[in-house]
Amino acid sequence: MTDRYAVVGNPVAHSKSPTIHAAFARATGQAMTYERLLAPLDGFADTVRAFEAAGGKGLNVTVPFKLQAFALAVHASPRATAAGACNTLKLEADGWHADNTDGIGVVRDLSRNHGVSLADRDVLILGAGGAARGIVLPILGEKPRSVSIANRTESRAEDVAARFSRDGMVTPLPVAALAGRTFDIVLNATSAGLAAGATLPWPRGLFRPGAFAYDLVYGDGPTLFLRWAGAQGVTRMADGLGMLIEQAAESFRIWRGVLPDTAPVFELLRPTARA
Ligand code: NAP
Repeated sequence: MTDRYAVVGNPVAHSKSPTIHAAFARATGQAMTYERLLAPLDGFADTVRAFEAAGGKGLNVTVPFKLQAFALAVHASPRATAAGACNTLKLEADGWHADNTDGIGVVRDLSRNHGVSLADRDVLILGAGGAARGIVLPILGEKPRSVSIANRTESRAEDVAARFSRDGMVTPLPVAALAGRTFDIVLNATSAGLAAGATLPWPRGLFRPGAFAYDLVYGDGPTLFLRWAGAQGVTRMADGLGMLIEQAAESFRIWRGVLPDTAPVFELLRPTARA
């Protein structure tokens, strides 16, 4: 039977993962299928069990199941453990193994696709949800000069900083304390700005000359965060499509043992972006 893979979420119809993994499979000559699995909000574990019984070998996990996937796994990688969340499940002989490839997705996108080094840079992460937790450890691994984290709910930023205190210095900052501070790299890891007519809650002036703005959110055009940065003179920026593609490549490597070339998938999903 051909090995089966899927992305599981709710909603999941919008997911670009099937297109990405089909392209990786074609390019690397892997015999596999990849589908979308809509799990009921109260039926994640049952959906995973049914997928396993039907020959499923691996899953990408998206909103709102990343914490449940972590809890369901019999083994978790250091990156999934650090995040407390899982976006990649692989079926092994003893059950599902959890990993988290979101962080390496951001770091690879910044370094390989945008030529941005985090080393010796002052980095600001906006947000303290699942995505922010997933990116802190790989960012610390690049040896930035400092990592600060600011979140609407201050206590969550403090929790994230405490969670990674053994891995490096992460400074929680109240949003109000951002005024007057500047950074080399500012990453938006929040859903602020997604709602129609939304405005962003951060003070202007966070970007140093030459700073890079990175939005984990992606869309067909520039996101609100990137437009906000651009209006402040920032010229170096990227949205999270590259993160999506690079995290998928790392999931593919975990499942199939081969890291696919991501460049053709950028061409496929956004033909004009890299012209
Ligand atoms: P999450 O766990 O629900 O966390 C949401 C975060 O956004 C929290 O920090 C929350 O602050 C903050 N937030 C929400 N509304 C806000 C507002 N109006 N003003 C200020 N802060 C607000 O979500 P997540 O999984 O971390 O995802 C965050 C974003 O990253 C999403 O937009 C998601 O699409 C994107 N993402 C992209 C990729 C990719 O591959 N490109 C991967 C993962 C996630 P509070 O703590 O105060 O509620």
